[in-house]
Amino acid sequence: MTIPQLRGAALATVALVTIGSMAIPDAAGAAPGNPGAPRYSAGAASVGDPYFPDEGNGGYDVQHYDINFSYDPATRFMAATATITAIATQDLDRFNLDFRGPEISSLTVDGHAHDFIRDGQELVVTPRPKLKTGQAFTVVVRYAGVPGPITDPDGSIEGWVPTDDGAFVVGEPQGTPAWLPTNDHPTDKATFRFTAKVPEGLTAVGNGQLLSEETRDGWTTFTWDSTEPMATYLATITIGTFVVTESTTPSGIPVYVAIDPRQVAGSAAAVAQIPRMVDFFASKFGPYPFASTGAIIDRAPDVGYALETQTKPIFSSPASVGTMAHELAHQWYGDSVSPQRWSDIWLNEGFATYAQWMYTEYNGGASVSQTFNSSSNYGRAASSSFWQIVLADPGPEDMFSSIPYNRGAMTLHALRGKLGDDAFFRILREWAASRRYSHAATADFIALCERESGRNLTAFFDVWLFQKGKPTSW
Ligand SMILES: [Zn+2]
Repeated sequence: MTIPQLRGAALATVALVTIGSMAIPDAAGAAPGNPGAPRYSAGAASVGDPYFPDEGNGGYDVQHYDINFSYDPATRFMAATATITAIATQDLDRFNLDFRGPEISSLTVDGHAHDFIRDGQELVVTPRPKLKTGQAFTVVVRYAGVPGPITDPDGSIEGWVPTDDGAFVVGEPQGTPAWLPTNDHPTDKATFRFTAKVPEGLTAVGNGQLLSEETRDGWTTFTWDSTEPMATYLATITIGTFVVTESTTPSGIPVYVAIDPRQVAGSAAAVAQIPRMVDFFASKFGPYPFASTGAIIDRAPDVGYALETQTKPIFSSPASVGTMAHELAHQWYGDSVSPQRWSDIWLNEGFATYAQWMYTEYNGGASVSQTFNSSSNYGRAASSSFWQIVLADPGPEDMFSSIPYNRGAMTLHALRGKLGDDAFFRILREWAASRRYSHAATADFIALCERESGRNLTAFFDVWLFQKGKPTSW
């Protein structure tokens, strides 16, 4: 994987050539003795997340993504227009987007057509006129071709995954640029609108609420509005043959469930419990963060996992009760409160796994303490490789192994035992409330725990998060 410093250096060389060929002077910024003048420079080509050094970019903050596209599963051909609204956070003479999708036919910034460079997943844009700090700007990218999947460090696939009746669309941790130009890191959230035109008879299911559905000339266009800020990795616009059911939870949250007809029977128990799960978690974690909930249950045998896509978790095979609880709990922890760096993944997976243990207990199954002590968890031998990775920094190959999930959940149960239920659940609610629609790091969680409990927890978190080996006292 490319080292960020080297990548930045390579791009700088490319951009100098570009600027030179365009014969634009004064790329260095303000003249001396003119302190109020803009000082233009290039936005960073990365946010500097060591697990995925190409992910994200600097110099701007995306406000909204609007993607309008057609997709035909028979040819796997997509034709798309993406409109990205952002605000410059520095004086910019160049910025990058992350894009690994089909061929671009045109790119404009505020209506001006621009040349661009594609280098790996970097889409390098040189806006003229240049952009001043605080300036809102709009990028429109038109592209067409056959999008496809991306393979991750652990060997799994994500991105745009064609299925036998459409496409399964997931983006954790780096798949969304397969089909949409983005600032692809959880630290830059934005609202989304998806307008998808698919052959009549198929359904396109996106995050958020369905605004309209219209059929004309053998094609149906679905428009979805995701009104709360969302990390790019949580976006989906999945296409297939679906049975759709709509209902509401007892507390009134709309529920939209789309199921591949082949998965209906195998998912019935999990789907029936969605309203009860959402309301149970709201009673423990605070209000459900989004305007709607639901699920997408598809058939994508090459994928082999479920993902907490915002407002509608997605499943590549029939949904179990436990997995449904896990993915819905992520709506609070992972989706509304996202990781600041991918090394913080236990804040997603440990929390969702612990919530799953809680729901199992609430639903009449094993108690949380029984699950903690089971042979999959604390019952594992001290010699097991399970204990030989630092939980707060598992590495990109192990970030979706059982370690962040099970050891993360164990950390929370040990914390609950140490602080008591009152302080523990106050901390979970405060975490969801204070970081709503935002992101946070492990250090922020530790600081919150110490503030809410009034205790020094350095030794506790050292044993559970920062040391290898099975904890024996804490
Ligand atoms: Zn999860």
